[in-house]
Amino acid sequence: MHSGLRKLREWAQGLGISTFVGSSGRVFPTDLKAAPLLRSWLHRLRASGVRFHMRHRWLGWDGGDATGQRLRFATPHGEALIAADAVVLALGGASWARLGSDGAWVEPLAARGVAVAPLRPSNCGFHVARATADGTLAAGWSEHFQTRFAGAPLKNVALSLDGEGGAAKQNGEFVVTDYGVEGSLVYALSAQARERIARDGHATLALDLLPTHSAEQVGAEVARPRGSRSLGTHLKSRLGLGGAKAALIYELLPRPVIDDATQLAAAIKALPLTLSQTRPIDEAISTTGGVRFEAMRAGLMLDAIPGVFCAGEMLDWEAPTGGYLLSACFASGVAAANGVLAHLRP
Ligand SMILES: Cc1cc2nc3c(=O)[nH]c(=O)nc-3n(C[C@H](O)[C@H](O)[C@H](O)COP(=O)(O)OP(=O)(O)OC[C@H]3O[C@@H](n4cnc5c(N)ncnc54)[C@H](O)[C@@H]3O)c2cc1C
Repeated sequence: MHSGLRKLREWAQGLGISTFVGSSGRVFPTDLKAAPLLRSWLHRLRASGVRFHMRHRWLGWDGGDATGQRLRFATPHGEALIAADAVVLALGGASWARLGSDGAWVEPLAARGVAVAPLRPSNCGFHVARATADGTLAAGWSEHFQTRFAGAPLKNVALSLDGEGGAAKQNGEFVVTDYGVEGSLVYALSAQARERIARDGHATLALDLLPTHSAEQVGAEVARPRGSRSLGTHLKSRLGLGGAKAALIYELLPRPVIDDATQLAAAIKALPLTLSQTRPIDEAISTTGGVRFEAMRAGLMLDAIPGVFCAGEMLDWEAPTGGYLLSACFASGVAAANGVLAHLRP
């Protein structure tokens, strides 16, 4: 087993939380709950002398005095100024602001010369656009499709990003929303799609409605004579394409393509799904951008502010969902803690 995995499991076991390694090679608490681990961790930290000051909002630094700049906090008892030998900032990204991670830290850090890459959504939903008969793009789903299929899951499908630099095809599922698409398979392509939209104004995904069928199989089934049956009935009975999957064919393809068996079969394996913009950052699962690695020394200490370290999602990286985000936050926390020790006891 990878030593990182082993250490993580030992750490959890030390908190009384047993874990197992899933078929994906990832570690899960045996009872699949995070709260007991957090409770136990907080208990151990308190018992070892850590003092938590709840409802303290960090505002930045004061103007400084002979002993250096002090941290400013808004507290229930008014503003507090605190001097510290070492500071670790782990203030998160800018999504789910109602849980406290609002990205307000960018301003005080930038004001002190720390290079911060703009915060942008990662692992997020996207708005869609549709090609219209005159070849232009119209925003959103048609009203017909949206009212019938918003909320519908598309399971056992595959997505890839069209064109150069596109990600390899990935299998999974996503959800049709009233504005577009969302869900794990969309998140998996969100970084590449976001960059493509920034470059070209839109990103076109190829949606494979039948990843378990080869193109030849789909071609053969679509081409079978259907007699007096409607195309919808034909696709349902020959290929099991019904509901939102079938409706997407009519939503996204021009009529001449639908009416041509060869083109239709090809489109079922690569339906063009155009994304026009990301959903707002506050709705994203995570944030990319943040404190640039060039702005830090080894140990994650800020070059511009010696004694101040950064960890977690506020650093400029991104990762897919599925535990990778928390793993990187844990890892950078350890790196920053080692950085503090090296700084205080050189
Ligand atoms: C719905 C959802 C599901 C997710 N699921 C997973 C998952 O299954 N696996 C996975 O790996 N990741 C998941 N993530 C992502 C993961 O939760 C984050 O990447 C991770 O929590 C970031 O840790 P962090 O400590 O850097 O920041 P945060 O967890 O955001 O913590 C930052 C803390 O700093 C506080 N703070 C911010 N500014 C200030 C300030 N000025 N003063 C005082 N306090 C401040 C905030 O209140 C917050 O408590 C999920 C995220 C979301 C939103």
